[in-house]
Amino acid sequence: MSRVLIVGGGLTACTVAHSLAGEGVSSVLLEREAVAGGLIRSEQMGGVLYEPHGSHIFHTEDQEVWELANRMTPFNDYRHRVDINVEGRILNWPILLSDIDAQTRSDEIREQLREREGIDAAARAQAANFEEWCLELMGPILYERYIRPYTEKQWGRPARELSARWAPRRVSVRWDNDPYLFPDPYQGWPAGPNGYTDLLDGLLDDERIEVRTGVDVTLESLDGHVRDAEADLVVLTCPLDVFAGHRFGTLEWRGIIVRNVHIPHVDYAQGAMVVNYPGKEYPFIRIHETKHASRQQCEGTVLGFEFTNAPTRYYPIELPHNRQLNDRYQDFLRAEIGPDRTFFAGRLANYLYIDMDDCMRQALDASVEVLDALRATRLKAG
Ligand SMILES: Cc1cc2nc3c(=O)[nH]c(=O)nc-3n(C[C@H](O)[C@H](O)[C@H](O)COP(=O)(O)OP(=O)(O)OC[C@H]3O[C@@H](n4cnc5c(N)ncnc54)[C@H](O)[C@@H]3O)c2cc1C
Repeated sequence: MSRVLIVGGGLTACTVAHSLAGEGVSSVLLEREAVAGGLIRSEQMGGVLYEPHGSHIFHTEDQEVWELANRMTPFNDYRHRVDINVEGRILNWPILLSDIDAQTRSDEIREQLREREGIDAAARAQAANFEEWCLELMGPILYERYIRPYTEKQWGRPARELSARWAPRRVSVRWDNDPYLFPDPYQGWPAGPNGYTDLLDGLLDDERIEVRTGVDVTLESLDGHVRDAEADLVVLTCPLDVFAGHRFGTLEWRGIIVRNVHIPHVDYAQGAMVVNYPGKEYPFIRIHETKHASRQQCEGTVLGFEFTNAPTRYYPIELPHNRQLNDRYQDFLRAEIGPDRTFFAGRLANYLYIDMDDCMRQALDASVEVLDALRATRLKAG
């Protein structure tokens, strides 16, 4: 019988294992931490459901992924709204026209917006840097209040040194005053008692899947694990530079750390699930409160304070040398482990920022490739 070894135990790995199990293929999933789940696992603090790594909102256009997620655990109809602290006032993010009057210099802001009405900022995303792109969209006052300090806090470098490539997806002025962040047709948050942990447990609930935790796999130890698991193929969802002992160098990431605090005596501590704090006077960048999405009926809440510049692997630094380095690790590992038996999936092995729906899509696509490879091996053997 075919078996697959999966390195890592986040959402990507769990989805690969689930998808293979559905086709009758067993897998052994090796996770470094004491529990599987990676960034999305939900936990409890003082009886309150919260997300140790910050809030996650499921939003997608991918119907197959949405239906798969909902088969594992039903989702509620939460739609994501974000607040932002500007001049000490709580306003909406993205920028709403209806919030302009609540700000100082509102006449000047309106004039700056009027001057830009006909300009198609989105079309310039390839040409401009991040700062230029935003200035063209909204003018200098809004840019200084909403964008520059937040961006520089997040990335630790001047906004004009950043590419505008992702700007149209992240920054907008809502002329129609639509306050919700995501336009996707499918959106929500897991409605069960354990949040995203129910999604993970649902994916892993199959006798063909074996999860071993507390196992930090490296290229050196891989052979032993493959023999032990009697595996034919390997799917890597872990960071490849670490896995290969940094032999060609280390990939650069921008990290965050979230410090969570239980507050026993209030139902809610802020008005939205996420509040952005762009100002340098705040040492954190966002505060998360999962309860808005979980809709848990309980006393107390948990706030997660997000700090940037932590030595964690959260946002890849999309520069050509990092992309080339990850490609080099993939080529090297394919050659070392075997070109027909090595597969990569997920945010770490592909050095990408991807949302949960994209990582599930990658996992589904990877499992199709794995099944094709297993069939090809059987044909050769037969
Ligand atoms: C700050 C932030 C906010 C986000 N918000 C959203 C959101 O609102 N909506 C959304 O859709 N997505 C969001 N995402 C994206 C989402 O978190 C990811 O798409 C998803 O969690 C990726 O899953 P993964 O399995 O690829 O990686 P991870 O969750 O990182 O899982 C990798 C796993 O591999 C394990 N591992 C690593 N190395 C080894 C090794 N050598 N041996 C064994 N195990 C190993 C790790 O311990 C970890 O458990 C956010 C991401 C970040 C960083």
